[in-house]
Amino acid sequence: MICLSVTSQSLEEAIRTAVAEADRIDLVELRADLLREELSHAIANFPDRLDDELSRSGKRHFPKILTIRRAADGGAYDGSEAERQRLLEVGLGSGYDYVDLEVDLRESAPGRALEEVARLAGVRVIRSLHDTEGVPADLEATIAQLSERAGEIPKLAIAPANSADLYRIFAAFPRIRDRGGILVGMGTIGIPTRLLARVLGSFLTYCSVGRRKAAPGHLEPETLEQVYGYRRTGPSTRVFGVLGNPVMHSKSPDYHNRVFRERSLNGFYVPFQIDDVADFVRIAELLDMGGASVTLPHKSAVIPHLSEVDETVEAAGACNTVVRSGEGWRGVNTDIPGFLKPLTRAISLSGAAVTVIGAGGAARGIVYALAREGARVLVLNRTVERARELQQALAEMHGFDAVEVGALGPEAADALRSYGDVIVQTTSVGMAPNEEADPIGWYSFSGREIVYDIIYTPETTRLLRRAQAAGCLAISGTEMFRGQAEEQSRIFCELLSR
Ligand code: NAP
Repeated sequence: MICLSVTSQSLEEAIRTAVAEADRIDLVELRADLLREELSHAIANFPDRLDDELSRSGKRHFPKILTIRRAADGGAYDGSEAERQRLLEVGLGSGYDYVDLEVDLRESAPGRALEEVARLAGVRVIRSLHDTEGVPADLEATIAQLSERAGEIPKLAIAPANSADLYRIFAAFPRIRDRGGILVGMGTIGIPTRLLARVLGSFLTYCSVGRRKAAPGHLEPETLEQVYGYRRTGPSTRVFGVLGNPVMHSKSPDYHNRVFRERSLNGFYVPFQIDDVADFVRIAELLDMGGASVTLPHKSAVIPHLSEVDETVEAAGACNTVVRSGEGWRGVNTDIPGFLKPLTRAISLSGAAVTVIGAGGAARGIVYALAREGARVLVLNRTVERARELQQALAEMHGFDAVEVGALGPEAADALRSYGDVIVQTTSVGMAPNEEADPIGWYSFSGREIVYDIIYTPETTRLLRRAQAAGCLAISGTEMFRGQAEEQSRIFCELLSR
């Protein structure tokens, strides 16, 4: 179920927000600690007023949770505990279906009295523990402690500091699922725990709208619906994802989940912010993942964890796709076919003279792909030694002897002109936010070159604009990005269709 935590400062706004999101959610949680008005009145009136408004808008009613989160638990309530408990009691007689009571309340007589009032009022208790600092040392014992009372819903919200913590949270999910509870990893690292709530059997996942998020890592209901298709997921859904660091800017969840939806495949693609690839491999095995995209900075670090690699990975020294293969993982580099796809539509590379600007990670696979297609390649790099290393590696590994190197600068203009059938730009120069930079500003295009800039933010770099103005055929990095994503998607969909 999807629970909207309303973070509004007024009762009116809270009701408006819940009504606006009504079609995307299954429950609503009033975070009363965030209200900036007379709390007794707002808490007492929220359930009926919301139901009236939902009826008026022709929308269905849904269950309501009352929460007054203390500052120590990551909330905003800073009044006295006696007053908070009085407010909770007001709520228990006002039509809520659930109340969030922290586990330590069981230790005190007033806390136990609240529990009894809830029982008599037919309000189910969500028995919560929030650790905004980390992950408890013994998760199983913590979950057992939260689950002591039959009929309560245990809820554990904790803050993973790294991917090892994330693994521990995933490993604890069966315990919470068996008890019908809620397990949440907060913050960016914890986002997969929110997204996989249905797959892993958490009672609900929380989300919120606007800039004021109820907790770190909350996604918008619209994002859950439009990007992730969250409601399509369930225990039989095969998990895919992207591992990187950072990773939340990635457009890949949007792309791959859309393809899964369009093809009615039971797959779900989630971003994992991972600091150590070994942890990701453990997570992937625990979740029986089908595959993953690999992005910076893990494209090389993932290789030792693979049981098989195809020639594109060996050649590029980088892997951007892993897919389950028997007991292990197979690595593929779809950047290479993704790069070639738009270029080979425009020109036959056999015998073509091509200049590659840059000799970094992306250039290595690109120079390999060009040489394999029979092109003669000139690599120009700021650090010429790096270009030489690339030249040597390709000669030793693949016997390619048609790769020349040089220093990147105006003195290379003539060489560039003679290797000018295609110019491939692979440096980060010209990438946002330095959009006015041009790595070969000193070069005048003849208009006959095909100019391919692999940068995709911005879609059209200054270099490409200059090339277009001179009459060249320009290819944007967006096309390479799309090509590699299509190839990756083909691999993931093939696995799902088996
Ligand atoms: P990388 O390994 O860090 O290599 C960076 C390259 O840029 C090196 O050749 C480096 O030269 C050069 N460079 C950096 N700053 C420079 C400067 N001020 N002047 C001249 N040269 C400079 O990075 P990468 O992984 O290859 O990625 C490079 C670019 O490709 C990024 O913009 C990335 O977004 C893009 N990319 C696009 C796709 C796609 O699908 N379209 C896929 C992968 C990568 P030195 O060796 O002298 O440092």
